Amino acid sequence: MTDVVDLPALLQANKGVFLALTAVVTHFVWSQKKHASKGVKKEGASHAQHDHMGDGTILEALSHLALFLFSHGICYYLWWSAEFNKGCVGNPFPLKPEVIEKATPNAVSLGMYFTLIVSQLIFSVTLPGPTVLGFKIPQENNRRLPYKCNGLAGWYATVALVVGLHVTGVFDFKMLYQHSGAMLTTAILFADTIAVIMYIECIRTGRSDGRIQYFMHDFVMGQYLNPRLGSIDLKMVAEIKVSWLLLFSLDVSCALCLKDELGYIPNRMWVILLIHGLYTNACMKGEESIPYTWDIFQERWGWMLIYWNLAGVAFAYTFNGRFMYAAQGESLPELPTWAFLCLSAAVLMAYWVFDEANAQKNRFRAQQLSGAFVQRPWAFPQLPNATLDEPKYMVTSRGSALLMDGWWKYARKPHYTADLCLAVLLCLPCGFDHFLPYFFACFFLPMLIHRAYRDNARCAEKYGADWEVYCKEVPYILVPGIY
Ligand code: NDP
Repeated sequence: MTDVVDLPALLQANKGVFLALTAVVTHFVWSQKKHASKGVKKEGASHAQHDHMGDGTILEALSHLALFLFSHGICYYLWWSAEFNKGCVGNPFPLKPEVIEKATPNAVSLGMYFTLIVSQLIFSVTLPGPTVLGFKIPQENNRRLPYKCNGLAGWYATVALVVGLHVTGVFDFKMLYQHSGAMLTTAILFADTIAVIMYIECIRTGRSDGRIQYFMHDFVMGQYLNPRLGSIDLKMVAEIKVSWLLLFSLDVSCALCLKDELGYIPNRMWVILLIHGLYTNACMKGEESIPYTWDIFQERWGWMLIYWNLAGVAFAYTFNGRFMYAAQGESLPELPTWAFLCLSAAVLMAYWVFDEANAQKNRFRAQQLSGAFVQRPWAFPQLPNATLDEPKYMVTSRGSALLMDGWWKYARKPHYTADLCLAVLLCLPCGFDHFLPYFFACFFLPMLIHRAYRDNARCAEKYGADWEVYCKEVPYILVPGIY
């Protein structure tokens, strides 16, 4: 099977999508320019303040609007392609009635989605786990918020519950995949509603300026850094528990549907399950480090994070599994054993670097911050060099130290490199005949590179001359000798 594409017709029919894509690129370029020019604007707000206040320009507002439209459009487009177009590029318009019917929320989708949300909120309060204190928050008198890290217990409890319900026949887990269109709309409506509620809170508490340019910025990028419901940190629950559990559940459900159709789960699908299973597990077992990541400490809980955590990640990142279902084994026969083993070995190697690099930095930082990192007895796997003994590091005049050992002596973002390798490995099992399975890698690569640039700009401003010294010691960002 190959994509038959009439390019001019496709461009004409999808001009909205292509316009949105162009605007999203503009958004990235624009925000890049903003960081590059921050030296000129320094005397006003600090970098972090400036970033969350926005520029208030029309271009900024338009780029946020484009991001909003693109994010919705791409999730629906990928779903439509897998469900109605065998995973190929095509033109969904005019929409057929069955497309609208399948994408309309129903009792099953509402039941499944809200069971996930409510169960994760209950697990967050009730299950055991260590508590860590986040970074000092300068805007709040250096207060340090407590984070109860029970994601691992929640992950094990969810798996046990779902397996129990499926095996006993109480709940057929395949329904999740069968209702994925309705689930997508349910998730999107819920995410957008939460974003609107958060924005209304912004107005109510006087955090939002209310002008049109600022409306888009405040709505999309948000103003709340640490939204909480009692002791529950909503950003953490959405980022760790909802997005990755829903993502892995969609994959597993898809694999069960494939088993029903073919009588077996294709080895290509096992590669996808391996990657997403390891990644989900890594998020849960490393949860105690999440309070120190960019998303939790820097990004505000606006529409962008809310949407991608509650809806976008799970549905956009699982396209490749759905593509396999759409291709149904006819055009994607079983991989030869050697190819399957090579792919699996490559996944394990990339994961090894990803897990170790994240653990090395996070544990090093935890030791610097409070003398020790939190030991997780049930966290599996524990890799041999996750904790570095007497690592080489650099003390900065800002007080925090920069690690220059382990994977961190080779590059400034070794965990991004490994993450990108995993993204490519996620695409390869889908073969080389189609473009859409490679969409994830095409989306993820610029996103992580852009993120690395933003972080570099932030660190350069924060550490000043120390950062220059560090960059001389560790000159490459992703791949030693190349970039
Ligand atoms: P990082 O883990 O790269 O954290 C960046 C911060 O770490 C910097 O701002 C700086 O903070 C500190 N830092 C930088 N260099 C050093 C060093 N050498 N030693 C010690 N501290 C240092 O950020 P992310 O949150 O972006 O990434 C975390 C993980 O999440 C990565 O593995 C990434 O691949 C993954 N990720 C996955 C996404 C997905 O959608 N799947 C999306 C985004 C990320 P400070 O100011 O404290 O010095």
